[in-house]
Amino acid sequence: MPPDGRLRVKFWGTRGSIPVAMTSAEVRRKLVATLMRASGSKLDTPEKAGAFLDRELDFAVAHTFGGNSSCVEIVTGSSDYVLCDLGTGARVLGNEVLATRGPSGHTFHVFMSHVHWDHIMGFPFFMPIYTAGNRIRIYGCHARLDEVFRRQHAAPFFPVEFSGLPATIEFVRLEPGREYEIAGLQVRPKLQHHGGDSYGYRFQRGNTIVVYSTDAEHKQDDLAEVEGFVEFFRDADLVIFDSQYSLAEATSIKEDWGHSSNVVGLELCQMARAKRLCLFHHEPVSDDEHIAALLAETRRLEEITRGDRRVEIMAAYDGMEIAL
Ligand SMILES: [Zn+2]
Ligand SMILES: [Zn+2]
Repeated sequence: MPPDGRLRVKFWGTRGSIPVAMTSAEVRRKLVATLMRASGSKLDTPEKAGAFLDRELDFAVAHTFGGNSSCVEIVTGSSDYVLCDLGTGARVLGNEVLATRGPSGHTFHVFMSHVHWDHIMGFPFFMPIYTAGNRIRIYGCHARLDEVFRRQHAAPFFPVEFSGLPATIEFVRLEPGREYEIAGLQVRPKLQHHGGDSYGYRFQRGNTIVVYSTDAEHKQDDLAEVEGFVEFFRDADLVIFDSQYSLAEATSIKEDWGHSSNVVGLELCQMARAKRLCLFHHEPVSDDEHIAALLAETRRLEEITRGDRRVEIMAAYDGMEIAL
């Protein structure tokens, strides 16, 4: 794809707070549902079985949203990689890059929302850091970003010291509200409410706009804050939004826990005339059925509250790709 082609977004990790794996009980539930649905069908080739899965089963039965923590790639068409956060999804991405494009000579531009564990814990397992000739530029608005990465690699937490990593690793401090030109994209960070602060990023190339806004709590009664986010999301083709909680949770027991809900995400996207809302940073307790139900509920709400323009709603899953 040429660098001026369409942007794509690929999700490598979509879970919030901590990575999770599907349990045996969940796998069994999927198998029981599938076998019951398939009874009487003659599925004696991989093709027939695959077509049956695609045609007959809901996403939550035939697939999983996955359990890696936050890592999202903006595929620009250039040989440089653009990533948001280094949760455990970064491990999968790193392995894929090495397997398909070789061990060395890669440049990664990484935009950090913040440094809570679930957003940095993929870094020690991101294989490109162990090969000379790779370059990793880590951008963020927090002071002492490099110190956090160094400490994660220090004894007794990890056996390999940061200073011993063969790749070239650079840290670049950004200022919220300023516009930057990085990796062929215009990038603007924005401060968000979250313990220790977090930052969203608005990426633009030509008329295509992607907003990555995770780990943010929204105070809907603060008009100036609402307006700030509406402006940040304005006309976006895609808003990747922290919808870890239900609205009831976000406004009651889990108020001030630093996360938001599907309902708030939809309201902001409607006000901002964004085209797509992607639910992200899924609650670790939620199984696939629960996330699928949240997606269905959000789609129903969108239909009921739709003005003159539809917002397409999706729920991120590990491995999902969106062409913009
Ligand atoms: Zn998080
Ligand atoms: Zn956080």
